[in-house]
This record gives sequence, C-alpha cells and structure tokens, in this order.
Amino acid sequence: MATESSLTLREKLTFIKSRVYCCKASLVRVHPESRRWVDVPLSCKTWGCAKCGPRLGRLWLRRIIAGNPERFMTLSCHTKRFLTPRDAALKMKAAFEVLVRRSRATFGVFEYTAVWELFKNGYPHLHILQKGTYLPQKWLSRQWDSLGVGYIVNIKKVHNTRQCSGYVAKYLLKGARRTSEALRPMRLVQVSRGYSTEVNTEAPMARDPGWKTVFIKAEFGEILDFLVVNMGSELTGENDDGSVEGRGPPDLSKVKATEPWQYKILELFKGDGDGESDH
Ligand SMILES: [Zn+2]
Repeated sequence: MATESSLTLREKLTFIKSRVYCCKASLVRVHPESRRWVDVPLSCKTWGCAKCGPRLGRLWLRRIIAGNPERFMTLSCHTKRFLTPRDAALKMKAAFEVLVRRSRATFGVFEYTAVWELFKNGYPHLHILQKGTYLPQKWLSRQWDSLGVGYIVNIKKVHNTRQCSGYVAKYLLKGARRTSEALRPMRLVQVSRGYSTEVNTEAPMARDPGWKTVFIKAEFGEILDFLVVNMGSELTGENDDGSVEGRGPPDLSKVKATEPWQYKILELFKGDGDGESDH
C-alpha cells in the first residue's frame, strides 16, 4: 500500500476528500501576506456521526496520551443491582464521583479521563486513565462495592504509550457510536481538571497575526478543489480537527473564479476581501 507521503498531489487530494465530511460549509482562513490558507470544515463533531465519530476518536486518543496516564482502571457493575443499563450508568457516574473524592482524601492526587464502554449485554463499564498516587486494588474494590455498584475493579500500570494507545483505541474507535447513543445526554468522555489533554489541533501558523477568515457555504471537497486545482495552491498538511492547509500560488492573476464564494476566497488572497481579521 502506498504511504501518504508517496502520493501525487491529485492522489493526496482524492485521499483527503474520501475522508467524508458531514458538513456543507467551511471557514476558509487566509494569510494574504504569505498566501497560506486553512480550510476548516464546519462538521457536527458528534460521536454519533459516522463521519465525525472516528475523527473524534482519534483526537481523544491523542489527548488521553498527552495526559501521560499512569494506570488503567476498569470499573464494572453488577447487572442484577440495576433495572436498566441506563440506570446502571447514572448510578455509576454518581458513585465514581464519590470514589474520586474518597481516593483523594485517603491517598492524595487522583486525576483521570473516564470513558464509557458498553458490554455486549448493553451494560456499561467505565475505563479510567488515571494518574496520581498509587491505589490498592482491594481498597478500590471495597469502595466500589460499598457504593452499591459492584466489586469488580481492575487496575494495572501503564507501561508505555503504545500499550496505552492500543487499550484506549479499542473503545474510542470501535464502540463509541453505539455507547454515545445509548447513554445520551451523558458525555462519552469525562476529564478531571488536573488531567491535561492539551494537544495542538490547529496549524501553529494560524496563530500568526494577519489572518482573515470567511464563512463559505460549499462542499468541503469543492472548496479544496478550488484552492488546490483551480488556484494551483500547494497542499501542505492536514490537522487533527479535520482542517487542511496549504499555500496559494505566487501569481493570482491567472486564477479564474466562477462562483460567488470563489470570488470571496480570491479576494481574501488579494488582501481586499471582507473577511474578519483575527486577533
Ligand atoms: Zn458529523
């Protein structure tokens, strides 16, 4: 299989467009001075979306790893204690909050990212990526049982990033859609304040001053075609938020626009568009 870097520009473009986007609008950002551009798809960004869900999963994978978790914990429920899977999830959520408070009071630091996953029978369990003070499994199991949920609690050490990402990928990329739909409006992923999930999802260059942004109502692929094929721009990369970036051609006089939105983009490159300036 060809790697992404060995593809021609056309192939690359087709490849990007094949990563279906659910939206029919974008924010096009242009830096007129350097002619750099970013096409930001305004997609729904929900787990339930067949198109956005996997992208969201990959993004959360990076975020969780960025937080350097030290332990994996799995908190299960004793299904007989609950009427429905939803009832179990609500009680587990409340119990987990108490468990975190008790852990902090007894052992010290407890920071986490928690992700739900449903068993085949529809009942949930909570995966916790934890960092902080060591917690004895027996203590955890006793607490979890005393909170009325169940006594099955697993905890193990995170040895390396690869092992961690494999473990997290299992439920962030596969079952996420089904889980988020079943537990809605509960959040699929919850993060404690001290667990840093900061990853840079936008191009670093977008922080430079002088960028202008316009809202464009057109298919993401059409906008890319205009920027890359019609304008003859260079394609320089894709970001985790689904945006695509590049650099416009040195000579804009040969570019032909036909649609009103294309004129809007072209004007931005020329530095006289009505786009909003970024601060
Ligand atoms: Zn979507």
